[in-house]
Amino acid sequence: MNSRHLSQFEFCPRLPALAISSLPPLQPIREAVKAQFAAGVRQVLTGSPVTAPIDFLNEAASAGFLYPSGDPFTLAQDYSCWLDGALRIVEELGLRLTPAPPAVAAGKRIQIESAYTDASTLHLFLIGSDPDESKWPILLAQLAEPLTIELHLFPLPSARGGRLSTPLTIAYRHPLTGSLRLATLSGETGFSSKWTRVGRWEEEFGWGNWRDGIDRDQCIDQIYRHATIYPSRDDDYLREIREDAAAIAAAIPLPHPRLRENCSICPYARICHAEKEVDHVDDDARSLVTVH
Ligand code: SF4
Repeated sequence: MNSRHLSQFEFCPRLPALAISSLPPLQPIREAVKAQFAAGVRQVLTGSPVTAPIDFLNEAASAGFLYPSGDPFTLAQDYSCWLDGALRIVEELGLRLTPAPPAVAAGKRIQIESAYTDASTLHLFLIGSDPDESKWPILLAQLAEPLTIELHLFPLPSARGGRLSTPLTIAYRHPLTGSLRLATLSGETGFSSKWTRVGRWEEEFGWGNWRDGIDRDQCIDQIYRHATIYPSRDDDYLREIREDAAAIAAAIPLPHPRLRENCSICPYARICHAEKEVDHVDDDARSLVTVH
């Protein structure tokens, strides 16, 4: 079990047992990117060959994903390009870390996704923009009682108009001069519709030039943010986190009603609604959530 399963439980209590049992028939593309980002971070931090962006494209070409509106080929390339760029930024940090041990709550071991450690510091690599301390990876990280938690955040906007417009992926070409820009500077108005969007993968720009463009257009904060958190030393607060995590872990294998308001955006809808009743819990799921 890992921190993602606790987050899934808060979306719908039926979801983590389904996720532990099997992959959904089709994964939403953003979920697939998150999984490959986690794999890629591990590859970078442990000095292994970084295959996550190409693995992602291979998945897109074989199992396929659920896409928002737009051309699937273009979106898969855009997301893979984002993944490639984000992992290059992780490489730039120059860290060599080991995976953090699981958090322990009432005897249950819960892996903290994308958590790595060096002596007294715990590093979390998360997709998102804000250091939201109510998220489970950050809550569980505090149970390890590190001196500091370093948060490495990688914003991933939603695709719009069939493209993933981030400065890791898309540049804007000036209609007259043909010059390329990655972002507007403060005081400038946005790019008008006359600027054309160009994917980094479409014209095979070298990463070195693109990285220079990120500095030139001062848009690194749209790509990467860093925050330091000093974990709580309040025993009551830490006990509360431990008890809540243990209670969720114990509840995951139990039957739960369907939370119908979330079903329309749930990738497990076909499986979940095909079940006769809610009392079925896969044996694999049960054994996974009771590991001590
Ligand atoms: S389909 Fe609905 S009830 Fe089933 S796991 Fe998803 S959100 Fe929950």
